[in-house]
Amino acid sequence: MPESEGLSRRTLLRGTAGLGLATLGCQGLAQQSGATPPPPTAAPQGKKAGWAILGLGGYALGQIMPNFKECQRSRLVAVISGSPDKAKKVAGDYGLDAKNVYSYENLEAIKDNPDIDVVYVITPPGNHREFTVRSAQAGKHVCCEKPMAPTAKDCQAMIDACRKAGKLLQIGYRSRYEPHNIRAIEACRKGELGRLRSIVSDHGFNIPNGLWRTQRKLSGGGSMMDIGIYSLNAARYLAGEEPVEVYATIHNLPNDPRFKEVEDTVHFTLRFPSGVVANCSSGYSWAGMNRYHVIGERGTLEAEPATSYGGQRLTMRRRPVEVPPGNQFAAQMDHLSACILDGGQVLTPGEDGLQDIRIIEAIYESARIGRPVKL
Ligand code: NAD
Repeated sequence: MPESEGLSRRTLLRGTAGLGLATLGCQGLAQQSGATPPPPTAAPQGKKAGWAILGLGGYALGQIMPNFKECQRSRLVAVISGSPDKAKKVAGDYGLDAKNVYSYENLEAIKDNPDIDVVYVITPPGNHREFTVRSAQAGKHVCCEKPMAPTAKDCQAMIDACRKAGKLLQIGYRSRYEPHNIRAIEACRKGELGRLRSIVSDHGFNIPNGLWRTQRKLSGGGSMMDIGIYSLNAARYLAGEEPVEVYATIHNLPNDPRFKEVEDTVHFTLRFPSGVVANCSSGYSWAGMNRYHVIGERGTLEAEPATSYGGQRLTMRRRPVEVPPGNQFAAQMDHLSACILDGGQVLTPGEDGLQDIRIIEAIYESARIGRPVKL
């Protein structure tokens, strides 16, 4: 289910398959927050940032924790969990120091632990704000999973808390650190397709009943918050600018218990200042779907799967594009670690997460009133 010259610079480039992550950015975001991180300066050989994982669920245990072994600048040092038995077992499995096991209740005690540089919040979105703010107030940098939080107000509070504490905030948009997506962005920015004209992006899956994902208080919304955000985020990073208007419709399968509190299928159209239009969709009652297409004046680009955990395939002008492999999970974590250790701007900062949530709020509003909404 979906669902950083010296050692540091070489490591970042290796982690992103030599595709120049440090030089790629999203124009619109750069305006907001400086999305193109400057090349970090040299850090002491072998220095790694210490990460604490908060929330030991499917994504943390299945994808994030196992990938620390692929990291060059990040090491797993602590767990923070609501379940003491699970925390103890997981800490044992990863050989963590028993003093580095925390609960949600004693989270503030991490401020006295110099092993921990970053807290990675991997819980349902309904409590991302609380855990991000508490971690920043405890003097730690934060990586927070997508979607950043249920509302733009929550997101702004998270950004403000990290800024006040003087700490970095990264949103876990792993596709921005994934080689095929980095190559696709490069093609769009360098004009390899000519001027961009149209983008299509579709993401969905068939959700089982009974998960927090279908409970509004914890999820903040339905398919759009959870999986449609990949369609939205991709449209923005491929277009390289921010949309000025959105029009959306929502359709729920009638009488389906999964869609009592949250939406199923969302179709949304984003209009960008250059004239690019993105037609995107999102679904919770679909056979798996994970793709985007970009149409330019002189060429097309297709990625399918596009934003999956692995197995990405990219074509340009219908021909396969060979992209050297790279580990998106490790690259995402190493990027934040390099920004902490060496200095530099986060490629996917809180402002990026906030922008998606602002647009999602406008998507919900457009579907409610039946008209386009200006952004
Ligand atoms: P999950 O249900 O498997 O795990 C959630 C974890 O949060 C559990 O350990 C649970 O105990 C804990 N938790 C804390 N407070 C909770 C509460 N009030 N209710 C329920 N659980 C609570 O979920 P997941 O799939 O690991 O998703 C966690 C976060 O990671 C979400 O924000 C999700 O969108 C994100 N995610 C991202 C990706 C990605 O590819 N970037 C993939 C999957 C999930």
